[in-house]
Amino acid sequence: MSLLAIKAKQLFTPLRVIENGLLLVEDEAIRAVGTREDISVPKRTRILDLGDCVVAPGFVDIHIHGGGGHDVMEGSAEALHAVACTIFKHGTTTFLPTTVTASTPRLVRAVEGLGKLIRGWPEDKQSRRHCAHPLGIHLEGPFLSAARRGVHEREHLQAPSVELFEKFVGAAGGTLRVLTLAPELENAAELQAEAIRRGIHVALGHSDATFNQTERAIVAGASHVVHMFNAMRPFHQRQTGIMGAVLTDDRIAAEVIADGVHVAPSALRLLIRAKGVSKIILITDGVSATGMGQGQYRLGEADITVKTEGARGVLVCRNAEGKLAGSVLTQDRAVRNMVTYAGVNWCAAVKMATWNPARVLGIEDRKGCLRLGADADLVFLHPDGTVAGTMVRGVATCF
Ligand SMILES: [Zn+2]
Repeated sequence: MSLLAIKAKQLFTPLRVIENGLLLVEDEAIRAVGTREDISVPKRTRILDLGDCVVAPGFVDIHIHGGGGHDVMEGSAEALHAVACTIFKHGTTTFLPTTVTASTPRLVRAVEGLGKLIRGWPEDKQSRRHCAHPLGIHLEGPFLSAARRGVHEREHLQAPSVELFEKFVGAAGGTLRVLTLAPELENAAELQAEAIRRGIHVALGHSDATFNQTERAIVAGASHVVHMFNAMRPFHQRQTGIMGAVLTDDRIAAEVIADGVHVAPSALRLLIRAKGVSKIILITDGVSATGMGQGQYRLGEADITVKTEGARGVLVCRNAEGKLAGSVLTQDRAVRNMVTYAGVNWCAAVKMATWNPARVLGIEDRKGCLRLGADADLVFLHPDGTVAGTMVRGVATCF
């Protein structure tokens, strides 16, 4: 048994802020969370004093395509490790490798490869110490709207089909966690019901759905929308569409890409007013260029260019037609952006990258929360919100 006491200026559980915090970690799990007065530290416990840092649960990214020069569509150990190690440096400890639309054989191959790696991950002790943990697959496409496909390849989009979906489920071998679909497509309701029956969360997106079509999918159990405001029917005062439904219905959560490029700061503020801080999920939609810098990269089969744009000098990914093609955002930056652009407090912003996504996946007893018995997956944040260190299952790496 190994005990570690972590001292920090504040703990963001993130349901509350604990000043002068102390967190007790035993092996791979959290054993106590409180103030230094609350918790008695047993003798011979190792102490990690983080000074003026904040300790929060490690970030949970439920929508990410790549990083460190690799795309999860490669389906290989090398690719998945590159992504996992890149985002770990930015405080992400749990993620859902997210596929893009591709030909069925290619998608099946990718899902099969990812599924095997995800299932084998817990046994592979060495690999999990300095990288984020892939928890399951997010299948984004092929059941998307051609009108709102973004950079998903038109020729490989498919009509919703339970039969085809079952191919992906079989290839994933129990690791499929989220299916994104456009609810207005024929047979989408049937596919949604089948996914939910199998315990797979249904996200709505890349969609031209009307308000009513979206409401029907929400009533049928859709858990969230992917990248709110991007790749969806625009809001009109008489035909409010999918955005109108999401903004006014508390039953559904919303992912958002808070990089300051995909969505204007005022749209972030609108989202906070409509959804509150408990229904917003900070994702990255990160592509292979994440952690790499300017240059030419791939997203699935598409070539993308990454270069700095605008007065703030943000790195932006575009395909050959100039369409936005994912991001190189990291979750630590997304949290900082929510504070600067949208004016929420630090703890609320952290909640959007931890508790909220964990809650959508139904894993908040283990992830995204500092509580007794949860996995010791943590991020240590400097007072300016940059990452001082990350811990995965009780093993800390300080940067
Ligand atoms: Zn997308």
